[in-house]
Amino acid sequence: MASITLENLTHSYHANPQADPDFAVKEVSHTWEDGRAYALLGPSGCGKTTLLNIMSGLLQPTRGRILFGDRDVTAISTAERNIAQVFQFPVVYDTMTVGQNLAFPLRNRGMGASYIADRVQRIAQMIGLEAHLDQKARGLTADLKQKISLGRGVVREDVNAILFDEPLTVIDPHLKWELRTQLKTLHREFGHTMIYVTHDQTEALTFAEKVVVMHDGLVVQIGTPQELFDTPAHVFVGYFIGSPGMNFIPASIEGRRAETNGQVINLANDYGNPRGEVVLGIRPEFVALANGSGLPVKINHIRDAGRQRFVNATLFDAEINIVVDADIEIETDMTNVTFDPSRLSVFCDDWRIDAGPLEDVSGDAF
Ligand code: ATP
Repeated sequence: MASITLENLTHSYHANPQADPDFAVKEVSHTWEDGRAYALLGPSGCGKTTLLNIMSGLLQPTRGRILFGDRDVTAISTAERNIAQVFQFPVVYDTMTVGQNLAFPLRNRGMGASYIADRVQRIAQMIGLEAHLDQKARGLTADLKQKISLGRGVVREDVNAILFDEPLTVIDPHLKWELRTQLKTLHREFGHTMIYVTHDQTEALTFAEKVVVMHDGLVVQIGTPQELFDTPAHVFVGYFIGSPGMNFIPASIEGRRAETNGQVINLANDYGNPRGEVVLGIRPEFVALANGSGLPVKINHIRDAGRQRFVNATLFDAEINIVVDADIEIETDMTNVTFDPSRLSVFCDDWRIDAGPLEDVSGDAF
């Protein structure tokens, strides 16, 4: 096994790409460390499958290189790259039994019969296929067929990486959790590099140690689930991660002072004088309802979700979401919001601006 490095990778499906919109992958440089579990997360059409297919060799990139360790594999075939790929829809041989399907990749590599029998048994047990080993794949449910596909993806021990392209799409919702947990167990036991493509943040955050977020053909952030929540590198990450996503407030900034709609918000640190389109970002969890001080809001509706309540309000003609713990009373005279200053993010032209280490941030931002 080896690390996988993508070096200045771009891909266009056009014969003569000219401008940015012609590229499905705009420019990606990234190293997938050996043995880690990653999620590749982004909305439909952002380039996830394209990137995965470039790594496995199903697609040749328009520009850039792919390295396994120090070896340039850009021009070599899928088979030589030694990568297992599990697709969105099951790929199984209907005329074979479940056991024969699972054994197929091992037979292809010329492994011995007793090794194959042991390995098939072990994988079947881990993903709940033991009872079906002697059944023909034809006629099995979509769930079971996709389990076979997953099993075939993870059955080989000698692969450089296992790529999963939205593998649980056809799986019944109650089984998804179980299979994702089993994939995590497989990762812990066998230590393969795993890259799991999804557009579902819950899947990404529960599966991966590191999440690679794609937006519009670009990798906009690579981080742990906590880092994506705490310090989104791009407004898209703020919006896409979290439920509801981050609130954004257009502002102008001068040092430690932000101004929006004639109101001043004190920042925890000096952000200089950023030029361009500046917005403040604050997660709904770090907005507090108040009365008297803070920015004026009008509450539109409150949704009770047990341990928390989700408040939707209007702030300067835009919507703002607030998450309030169930044990905090929401009074009718709460017509203001305050922000935890240590939790404010500042973005300029969509990208996060960092401002040195935080100074004293006691009190709120007003
Ligand atoms: P999804 O989750 O819907 O599969 P994705 O993030 O995996 O989306 P890709 O499938 O990589 O995104 O597609 C990226 C862009 O490339 C999209 O605009 C898509 O329409 C385009 N695209 C993908 N495959 C082809 C193709 N074979 N020919 C032309 N354009 C393509």
